[in-house]
Amino acid sequence: MERKRILLCLAHMSGREMDYIKEAFDTNWVVPLGPNVNGFEADLEAFVNNREGAEPLERKVVALSAGTAAVHLALLACGVGPGDEVLVQSFTFCASSHPVTYLGATPVFVDSEADTWNMDPELLEEAIMDRIGKTGRKPKAIVPVALYGMPYRIDRIMEIAAKYDIPVIEDAAEGFGSRYNGQVLGTFGKFGVLSFNGNKMITTSGGGALICSDDESKNRIMWYATQARESYPYYQHEAIGYNYRMSNICAGIGRGQMTVADGHIAHHRHVQALYKELLKDVKGVTLHEAPAEVFDSNYWLCTVTIDPLLHVRGEEKAYAEVVKGAVGGAAGVTHATESAHTALEPNRNVEAMRIWLNDAGIESRPLWKPMHCQPVYAKNPAYTNGVSEGLFKVGMCLPAGPYVTDDDVRYIVEQIKEAII
Ligand SMILES: *Cc1c(COP(=O)(O)O)cnc(C)c1O
Repeated sequence: MERKRILLCLAHMSGREMDYIKEAFDTNWVVPLGPNVNGFEADLEAFVNNREGAEPLERKVVALSAGTAAVHLALLACGVGPGDEVLVQSFTFCASSHPVTYLGATPVFVDSEADTWNMDPELLEEAIMDRIGKTGRKPKAIVPVALYGMPYRIDRIMEIAAKYDIPVIEDAAEGFGSRYNGQVLGTFGKFGVLSFNGNKMITTSGGGALICSDDESKNRIMWYATQARESYPYYQHEAIGYNYRMSNICAGIGRGQMTVADGHIAHHRHVQALYKELLKDVKGVTLHEAPAEVFDSNYWLCTVTIDPLLHVRGEEKAYAEVVKGAVGGAAGVTHATESAHTALEPNRNVEAMRIWLNDAGIESRPLWKPMHCQPVYAKNPAYTNGVSEGLFKVGMCLPAGPYVTDDDVRYIVEQIKEAII
């Protein structure tokens, strides 16, 4: 029997999605508003406001067309505009920083700490003081990112943010349902970003949401997301808005997904625990884990680092071929490349492991390349300590998610062992 290909993180339906979509058609709500949008927002509010052993919070949620749109509107609502600076975790996917540039502002990158892989609070404070010294102005926002679901050190980040009075926009796109000290990520800062892209913890095929502090801020975000219209019998515009609201069809998928969200998270954690057990004795391959119990990761993706001294089959041929097409689920058009190399790339043994696993029917991926190492951000200020660059060279993501069975994890670890010389 042929093995199925094991993908990094595949969307998994609950079976309820079609009921909500059908209802939208039956009631003729095939538009970017409606009962599913309201219902999905209510479900999300209940989910993010839940606290272990404490009274629920009262945060509000706006459903949007993408997580990227949520980042964009959060920045806008924090008053980010041309000439401003925003402090962004460098070790992230580009959607954390690109919207800063949409507003004519400059992302200033902050490197990570070694244990969480997320924004280093000490470096953050250094960056704030240095930017004030150099520009005479405070950065307009701080954007920490829950990379692969791992909580950032939010208690320290909030302390520093309060000291300098700078709003925090939590990018919890990968950290849906992760908790710090029992509280769901995205509910600590002024805003919290969620994503429901096809490969995230739950999906709406494409979509996102912004967690807001109160009703007033929710209304303001909703207004910006629906072209900023004034109340007249005709179109009257006094500000620039965006078409960022979630459609009622996508929200129907989201409502179905919310019935299995807890199950998905539990499964990701289960897969992580199984990797831990099976990789325990594999020398040179280290599973990335939460540094302490307060960091309650959803383990959206399971990640490992590979000792530079470990030898992997085929490493002499790694990078021999130019890769066709880009990494990532969104597909679309990518630029063809002439050279197989860039200025900073994963070690040969990491690339050889990726190729080995790929040939065995297993999708894996290098860690996200830090933004301060991306050519498009070559001129941006960056406060670095070598952590994210170091991790990018040695790390990789392994399959997780509801479709990955215990047997799959055993097979993946077997193949990892097989690849090691
Ligand atoms: C996926 C993601 C986003 C936003 O994603 P969309 O694809 O626009 O929904 C933002 N930040 C990070 C870190 C992400 O991984």
